[in-house]
Amino acid sequence: MSPHDEWVARDAAVVWHGFTQMATYADNRPVVVERAEGREIIDVEGRRYLDAISSLWVTTLGHRVPELDQALRDQIDRVAHTTLLGNGNVAAIALAEALAPRVPVDDPRFLFASDGAAAVEQALKIAFQSWTNQGVTGRTTYLAFGGAYHGDSIGSLSVGDGGFGTDVFDPLRFGCLRTPGLDQPGAAEAAVALIAEQADRLAAVVVEPLVQGAAGIRTHEPEDLRAVADACRAHGVLLIADEVATGFGRTGTLFACEQAGVRPNLMVVGKGITGGYLPLAATVASGPVFHAFDGPDLSEMTLYHGHSYSGNALACAVATRHLALIDEGDVLANVRARADQLAAGLAAAVAPLPGVAEVRGLGLMAGIELAPPTDGLRWGRRVSAGCVDRGVLIRPLGDVVVTVPILTSTADEIDRIVATLADAVAEVCR
Ligand SMILES: *Cc1c(COP(=O)(O)O)cnc(C)c1O
Repeated sequence: MSPHDEWVARDAAVVWHGFTQMATYADNRPVVVERAEGREIIDVEGRRYLDAISSLWVTTLGHRVPELDQALRDQIDRVAHTTLLGNGNVAAIALAEALAPRVPVDDPRFLFASDGAAAVEQALKIAFQSWTNQGVTGRTTYLAFGGAYHGDSIGSLSVGDGGFGTDVFDPLRFGCLRTPGLDQPGAAEAAVALIAEQADRLAAVVVEPLVQGAAGIRTHEPEDLRAVADACRAHGVLLIADEVATGFGRTGTLFACEQAGVRPNLMVVGKGITGGYLPLAATVASGPVFHAFDGPDLSEMTLYHGHSYSGNALACAVATRHLALIDEGDVLANVRARADQLAAGLAAAVAPLPGVAEVRGLGLMAGIELAPPTDGLRWGRRVSAGCVDRGVLIRPLGDVVVTVPILTSTADEIDRIVATLADAVAEVCR
């Protein structure tokens, strides 16, 4: 047995991998990571792979960034974690102070969590309770979009549009209003009309601004997002922007809402917030939403919600340093340049290939939608496997092959990702 096969056998014997059929896990040639350097991950046999999915969209500046490593070491010499329930922590305060002037939310307050799904869940509960605290009854449902993905907890799954084999949970999901994804023709008008018609039932509208990532990198125009935001404002419905995937530079601005000039009442961030180092997420509430919870001590106006590891000090310290590094390294300028290069490269080398239905993307997120002639060909999986064989780590979403390069990628690395995708698609889809 090779060292790789041995690790895979040990892995499959004890670890249950998310979104993964464990009975076939070993057959799909998983990469077992031992360490990483910059934008490459290194497996147990020393093979190197360019991380072209940013470890599922979380890694921003690379792996083992010296400054982030140091921020973590510095914090661990102070304290790793203390609770934020009723008490403060210097690292969490510093992070919230650093983020406050940067988030597109008025007079922001930060409720920390450890995962995107938990932070979405917090936003849903805050929106709901903010109405009941104001004595408004009946605003008990949400409007969400076709293709939406907001996480895997029951609440976040409920505002999501299902798929990925999660339909089995339908009996557990609470109902909400749904209107076509904003990438569809006429979708913004339909959403605006539904908001107007149903406003007094709606606690909030939940949207992934500019890109629905998990739907297969489906993009929409800033004007359409703005139209939805304007309708929310006009009808007094709260807008929750889920920036878990798009936040922290992924689309070329720090937050995607900025490109539409939209300032949501609640914003959710996660994934890139620590540069991909540690589990941290946050629900950002505007001042008016936050103040709807003001009241006497121990009163029912309070938000009775919080997680054990909310505002973990190690994660906050890394996140604060990470935010500064995005500025210091002029990372957003690199994202925009590399994004143009990626889009042009995919348009020239991949879009014309047989079997490719569409190439789309925004910033450093791109999806190649394949059009297999019959079911069961597993093109998405096979193209991704072809990329992994060529030393570029890619993961599909069904038959959409997705690349989400690290924000500090070089021009050569983007060229390599494009060339590898072109080779793998040409090999599989003929
Ligand atoms: C990944 C994602 C989530 C869920 O975040 P987790 O940290 O995986 O729980 C929520 N919303 C969007 C838009 C995402 O891409």
